[in-house]
Amino acid sequence: MLKSIVLSFRFLIILLTISLINVPLKSHASADTVSAIGQYDESNVFAKILRKEIPATVIFESAHVLAFEDIHPVKPVHILVIPKGKYRSILDFSEKASDIEITQLIKALATIAKKMNIAQSGFSIMNNSGHDGGQTVPHLHFHLLGGEKVSWEQSLRHQKKDTGN
Ligand code: AMP
Repeated sequence: MLKSIVLSFRFLIILLTISLINVPLKSHASADTVSAIGQYDESNVFAKILRKEIPATVIFESAHVLAFEDIHPVKPVHILVIPKGKYRSILDFSEKASDIEITQLIKALATIAKKMNIAQSGFSIMNNSGHDGGQTVPHLHFHLLGGEKVSWEQSLRHQKKDTGN
């Protein structure tokens, strides 16, 4: 009896350890893509950041724009620039956003590049839209990448060679 309790307890500990190790790896490595069209999802992670329900390292803020550090940076500078309005992707943003929202977002990208000292060295602005674009968070965002060479075209060509597509 005592032996089976000890065994079950050990099994439980092993299960708990595996799930604790797996959670952060899984959520980052296999992030699911989302559609660029459809209703705005209030529960997305950037909506939570905008509502201050979860923390973010804010780099820039204006009436219609928020910019913060990406939680998994792929370059020394990796900032996410988002409209404060509820836009799922560039599709509804271009249809529904006001001129001031659009202008502030574009200007913010340049302002932040200067603020992060990458204006001179150069940078890349990337937007992923929908499944094929690799969008994982259904709130419009631009990745501002810099601090070292951003060779996105080269990595895509490598990918093509690897997969044969
Ligand atoms: P995308 O794949 O273009 O939709 O990009 C989503 C980005 O959001 C990824 O680069 C993630 O690392 C980033 N991200 C996810 N959650 C957070 C968070 N809580 N704070 C900052 N960045 C995040």
